[in-house]
Amino acid sequence: MSAVAQGALLPTYPETRVTFVSGDGVQLTGADGRRYLDFAAGIAVVGLGHRHPAPLAAAHAQLDRLWHASNLFGTEPVSALAAILSDRFGGAQAFFCNSGTEANEAAIKYARKATGKSGVIALEQSFHGRTTGALAVTGQPAKRAAFEPLFDDVRFVAPNDVDALRAAMSGDVGLVLLEPVLGEGGVIPLDPAFVAAARELDALLALDEVQTGVGRTGTFFAFEQLGVAPDLVTLAKGLANGLPIGCLLVADHALGAFVPGDHGSTFGGNPVSCAAAVAVCETIDEELLAGVRANGARLLAGLASLPHVVEARGRGLLVGAHLDVPAGPVVDAALDAGLVTLTSGANVLRLAPPLVVDAAAVDHALEILTEVLSA
Ligand SMILES: *Cc1c(COP(=O)(O)O)cnc(C)c1O
Repeated sequence: MSAVAQGALLPTYPETRVTFVSGDGVQLTGADGRRYLDFAAGIAVVGLGHRHPAPLAAAHAQLDRLWHASNLFGTEPVSALAAILSDRFGGAQAFFCNSGTEANEAAIKYARKATGKSGVIALEQSFHGRTTGALAVTGQPAKRAAFEPLFDDVRFVAPNDVDALRAAMSGDVGLVLLEPVLGEGGVIPLDPAFVAAARELDALLALDEVQTGVGRTGTFFAFEQLGVAPDLVTLAKGLANGLPIGCLLVADHALGAFVPGDHGSTFGGNPVSCAAAVAVCETIDEELLAGVRANGARLLAGLASLPHVVEARGRGLLVGAHLDVPAGPVVDAALDAGLVTLTSGANVLRLAPPLVVDAAAVDHALEILTEVLSA
């Protein structure tokens, strides 16, 4: 496999090793015609699989009708999506933007205005995005270092350390920002007791469900498995099955802070993305979620017995295998063997297949990984 020329692209990503030209369900096809089994889903984005008929038809129909009107006017898809998400949440209002980063920026601004406080508690190894605000609350020093000073009213605590969480609290903290499963920092699920302790603090609780939301962990929102009611939730990756979208949901009990002029986005709430997202939300039913839980458990159990796997962990189909070797070369070897996977930190192999994956595809992926890890 030869490296793909990237001459005119800024090198913010490593050199790519394959160019994909089409996708179908859990399969991708490379420019050379080779087929791959997709256990990355575009970084937990293509939840219903490539070219799923429901969002495909909805996006096509909206493309033929109206592409853009701006948020100065209403469009049908944006209203429909807000209503569906409010219903799924149990009462909330939505702000739409174009990415997970922007959704977290909106959450940070919302919390500041609502509480009048600038302090934030976030987690070590967390990931919330690349803009200066979202980067400031991202607990990975290597990603921040070259761009400091960022806003510095942030206290990072270790995931699941309740004592450290309580010790970090003080009167100027207005926001506690948590990923239910740390998706980029090693696939670390939070304990319900830790999230409950965060809920007890006198601050807004925001859950970054950019990666865990929209069915990824086996419930529509991951927080449904944690027994807490958050004030703010951010969504993005899986929401429109690959079209750009981000969303901040503010729970009914936490409404009131934003007024016209406080925040906005030209492209946010794009009708085509929102139409696709409505179709995604309508497709994620209890049967699909049961499949996510069952196939996630199958994947986790299979991974646990593979060579070099120290621990397999995750929720639903967001699964990590902590290896006793670096994960990068394993991802490369898996790609050479026809399986697309991800890393999450230096030593964790991350698997996030489309939510529609079946048991046979899970077993096929495990066979490929067995070979790769035995080599
Ligand atoms: C991917 C991700 C983001 C950033 O989303 P973008 O769409 O890349 O801006 C933020 N938070 C979490 C948890 C993510 O996984």
